[in-house]
Amino acid sequence: MPITRRDLFKLSGVTAAGTFLGGVTFLTGCKSTDKLRGAKESTTICPFCGVGCSIIVSSRDGKVINAEGDPDHPINEGALCSKGMSLYQIAVNPVKRRLDKVYYRKPFAEEWETLSWDDAIKMIAQRVKETRDRTFVEKENGITVNRCDGLAGFGGAALDNEECYAWSKCARLLGITRLEHQARLCHSSSVASLAASFGRGAMTNHWIDIQHADVILIIGSNAAENHPISFKWVQRARDKGGKLISVDPRFTRTSSLADLYAPIRPGTDIAFINGIINYALQNDLIQKEYVIKYTNAAYLIDPAFSFNDGIFSGYNFAERKYDKKTWKYQLDADGIPLKDESLQNPQCVYQLLKKFMSRYTPEKVSAVTGCPVDTFLKVAELYTSTHKPDRVATIMYAMGATQHTIGVQNIRAYGILQMLMGNMGMAGGGINALRGESNVQGSTDHGLLWHILPGYLDAPKVFGPKKDTDLKAWIANNTPTTKDPMSVNWWQNKPKYMINLLKAWFGDNATKENDFGFDWLPKASKPHAHIHIYEELYAGSKIEGMILMGTNPVVGGPNAMKEARSLEKLNWLVCADLWETETSVFWKRPGANPKAIKTEVFLLPMASSVEKEGSVSNSGRWAQWRYKAQNPPGEAITDLEFVDRLFRSIRKLYEDDVKAGKKVANPDPILKAYWNFTPEDHHEPDPHMVAKEINGFEWEKNFEHGDQIENFIKLTDDGKTACGCWIYSGSYNEDGNNMARRSKKDKTKMGMYHQWAWAWPMNRRIIYNRASVNMKGEPWNPKKPVIWWDGDEWKGDVPDGPAPAGKKLPFIMVPEGVARLFAPTLNDGPFPEHYEAVESVTRNIFNSQQYNPAVSLLPGTAGEYGTTARFPYIGTSYRVTEHWQAGAMTRNLPWLDELVPDMFCEISPSLAAKKGIKHGDKVIISSQRGSIETYALVTDRVQPLKVNGQMVEMVGMVWHFGYAGHASGSTCNFLTPHCGDPNTFIPEYKVFLVDIRKA
Ligand code: SF4
Repeated sequence: MPITRRDLFKLSGVTAAGTFLGGVTFLTGCKSTDKLRGAKESTTICPFCGVGCSIIVSSRDGKVINAEGDPDHPINEGALCSKGMSLYQIAVNPVKRRLDKVYYRKPFAEEWETLSWDDAIKMIAQRVKETRDRTFVEKENGITVNRCDGLAGFGGAALDNEECYAWSKCARLLGITRLEHQARLCHSSSVASLAASFGRGAMTNHWIDIQHADVILIIGSNAAENHPISFKWVQRARDKGGKLISVDPRFTRTSSLADLYAPIRPGTDIAFINGIINYALQNDLIQKEYVIKYTNAAYLIDPAFSFNDGIFSGYNFAERKYDKKTWKYQLDADGIPLKDESLQNPQCVYQLLKKFMSRYTPEKVSAVTGCPVDTFLKVAELYTSTHKPDRVATIMYAMGATQHTIGVQNIRAYGILQMLMGNMGMAGGGINALRGESNVQGSTDHGLLWHILPGYLDAPKVFGPKKDTDLKAWIANNTPTTKDPMSVNWWQNKPKYMINLLKAWFGDNATKENDFGFDWLPKASKPHAHIHIYEELYAGSKIEGMILMGTNPVVGGPNAMKEARSLEKLNWLVCADLWETETSVFWKRPGANPKAIKTEVFLLPMASSVEKEGSVSNSGRWAQWRYKAQNPPGEAITDLEFVDRLFRSIRKLYEDDVKAGKKVANPDPILKAYWNFTPEDHHEPDPHMVAKEINGFEWEKNFEHGDQIENFIKLTDDGKTACGCWIYSGSYNEDGNNMARRSKKDKTKMGMYHQWAWAWPMNRRIIYNRASVNMKGEPWNPKKPVIWWDGDEWKGDVPDGPAPAGKKLPFIMVPEGVARLFAPTLNDGPFPEHYEAVESVTRNIFNSQQYNPAVSLLPGTAGEYGTTARFPYIGTSYRVTEHWQAGAMTRNLPWLDELVPDMFCEISPSLAAKKGIKHGDKVIISSQRGSIETYALVTDRVQPLKVNGQMVEMVGMVWHFGYAGHASGSTCNFLTPHCGDPNTFIPEYKVFLVDIRKA
């Protein structure tokens, strides 16, 4: 067995290590080693990006004294980027900026005062209850909605899974439907798009698997900068002969390592990818058997379906909406889609797709994107070489793809390309949505978005044609059906999963007779995406109070100054965080007059990731347990403890009022809830109890847990089992806490490590892996097998559906059983079409629709969009390795501040010359929403592009900065607009119009 450096520490001591390694003395005499002798070690998972690197934290006398990369961890193998290394400074807090007391700002006050936790919890519970009682809607148009319109909740991507689940449950029990978090802003378009194409919204493969790719396309992502340790696996692929393609508006760190770099104008991914799709279709470079059997290429579409000049059939010009009734399959007498496996029928998806894509010629792609034709053709040729079964490509993407008014369709284009190449389900293949926060995958899984409950169950709603009036209606409206006997249609189990969630939330009070308490779930009467909530607040609404859990919208939200002003409309605001954020001090932001701002603010000190125990799910869906290394500073507590104490305090207030016969808003969702996270003899909640509820258990009377459920196959729909989040069922069963496993046994020899941590669903490491084999169960690429059928059972990875080979279709989460080249469920078309951003430097040359025809601008944003007459340049935003998201977690760490101390923008030498700007000059950048001042970095990395015959310039900005924190700088998002994609309302952060001048 290989002995790692860590093993040597344990077994032999440091000096022996040097000897054992044949004279390699890198550890001998190392000061840090002396420092660490006798220290207590624990492991944790990095709190920053979604790679999920492991860190060894050493502590002595209850204080962290060191943090370093964990060499045993199969993903990071001991390496950390600059952020991961700086975890140490979060723990030791060298500039004393960690919150260690509860701070309180009275209405109209100019400074904070302090409060005890008991007083804070009491006051916040009272505020929540008073707001709830004032603004609760029990019935609306005769339908029970049990919704509280006066409360909103945000945040959770940095919380542990157990905290996210508790917060999601608490919020719903209070009646909150305005519940959102960072995923809306970063990857909501991924979830919608990938689910529409394949059935699930997650990264399909995992970090280690990237090493198996022959071609890696990184588009809309600067992975080398923003997911640095992922590049270990990109490089591993390159070492084996794999080729890297970087498609990016800037020549980035990723581009610098690429075999092929293709520049494109921000927002033109669809044109670029559709061009490659067209190249593949015209030259017959597709994996035909895969395409015929595993996609809907052969399915015949309704003859009434059409596409004309940028508009699909069913468009209502007045409402800017589609009626999708013609976007459907032709069915046979048994209700099964008609197919033409020769792919010759003009109504088959393949032919419709080919015709649709034929407009994306290399010349037109070049005219729109600015990428030279020869560069584009080199990319197309290299990429389509993976249509052969023994070659595979993967796509890595992030915010450059998702944050657009065409964000969902960008990712649709990636999906279509991968389907045609036969790359889905394959080792080294798939579509890898790179998550930027340590637990944004988990927080989404646990339903911290207005439209989903834990496990991607549809949150009930009472608007639109299908109203979820009761459980029966919810089941009918949200459960997909199929008549195709070859389709597994796993979502047919949705009713069962909902009943298990209700059982976990309402316990003995959830009975068959009362629909398991379905009525107590709040029901939304309109969409509540991030932008909707802030627009509503700004315009004046019933929203009185807001609870923010580790989120900073005054830096990270679009049109962030408008969001800061919106907060002035609140009666009260709670910010639970490690630091004073821009949002928590919005009332004393530059230019504001605190004496005129009524909002009462509670700023609560929270524990960091090394000061508590729990799990986080990385981008590749690995749920990994992390441990406590020290107590939080001063009076800081965990987010779980705050949520638990708050809920129990609110419940006590309702109990007292009900006992006293006082009139209150419907108390049943709160009083009938099953809320059991704190052991009787404990003061603090136990994350293991939460994790067990998430996994699911057999329900027994009197609120006692029965056995843990093995996995979701064992759940029943009769109330005898309870499960908080069905996709995590199996994470904490009778075998114990599977998320804490650390065995590096790898029976597959493909880097899957099934006994390291636990991956949802069912510990499956590559989802859609049934598509990696033919219908006989033989791998398309026997050299890199993911699964195979040995005649009796599946070998390799956990198969995506247990049916024997040849008995069922591979894409078990869509009712067709096959991946969708034609996706009939989205709001802006079954195929991806190029449209310009709402603010663009050029006209759309693909069709007469300037921007996505399904995008409807919100009434409150009238006058907030600029034109090229005043703002002639493309504004775009991005990140750097040294800082993280809205900045609070990194701008308070001196190591990182020294590396990148202030905000800056990047412009080309040609734009700099035109504007008389020199490298390092202060500049003013303005958009229709406002102006900011920052430093100019004049660099060849940014070049003008020739678009529609005209040279266009770009101003790129890092967006991590704000006015609070140890390091401060201007906020890029003061410039970005409040408009979003028609499917998820993800904001358009990546293309907006600006001007720039020397300050
Ligand atoms: Fe790893 Fe990401 Fe943390 Fe860097 S920020 S150490 S890449 S998890």
